[in-house]
Amino acid sequence: MNRLGPRDLLAAFLHLVFPTPCHVCRQPLALDHVSGLCGRCWGALERMPAEGCLRCGWPFPGPAGAGGAERPLCQRCRETRDHFRTARAALRYRDEGIARAAILLAKHGGHLSLLRHLAGLLAEDAPRRLCLADWDGLVPVPLHWTRRWQRGFNQAEVLAQAVGRRHEIPVLRRALVRMRATPPQQGDVTARRRNVGDAFVVASPARVAGRRLLLVDDVFTTGATADACARVLMRAGAADVGILTLARVE
Ligand SMILES: [Zn+2]
Ligand SMILES: [Zn+2]
Repeated sequence: MNRLGPRDLLAAFLHLVFPTPCHVCRQPLALDHVSGLCGRCWGALERMPAEGCLRCGWPFPGPAGAGGAERPLCQRCRETRDHFRTARAALRYRDEGIARAAILLAKHGGHLSLLRHLAGLLAEDAPRRLCLADWDGLVPVPLHWTRRWQRGFNQAEVLAQAVGRRHEIPVLRRALVRMRATPPQQGDVTARRRNVGDAFVVASPARVAGRRLLLVDDVFTTGATADACARVLMRAGAADVGILTLARVE
């Protein structure tokens, strides 16, 4: 049995007097909590269904293939010309959902330990949705350096590193650079595409050419950011581009 040291006793005492609340539901956390989310909130993170649109993973209202199509695509994918072949996400991002609350806390509240736990969830979930052997490298969607400096981390990089470590895929950290600090994405898909249209450049084309690259980001909303990145990667000679995100907006 492990013996408790003075530090453990002090931590237990402080926890008793000032219990740390769950970041989402504010219920007191267990002493050994690590993510900042209680077990109930963690277990209630909404997962994306396994079946959905062949390209973007969007869940269909009925079983996959509803409508009798052999290669079922959702309305978005039937109407959009994307530069990425496939996009998958682990969690559903809904207005009142726990996944949204957790991601916003991790990103804007600076809770890096929560982000690392979410990254672990993504790493564990990804092989259920994508054949990871199909990809030669992971490319985190970059932040502009000013935003990265303010935040202290790039959430996409933390996610990519967790996936890369778990599945032994190299992370190409500086392959892609964000040249402009774009305003936060808002509005419809056309406005979003315009906002990020020329924001990204490939910094090292030699690392990109001929490779199958999986872009990693925290949230997929309309796909405008993902597509802007995919476009410059394909122009730089990437053989294939896919998207893996922690969550997908409904
Ligand atoms: Zn909770
Ligand atoms: Zn789709």
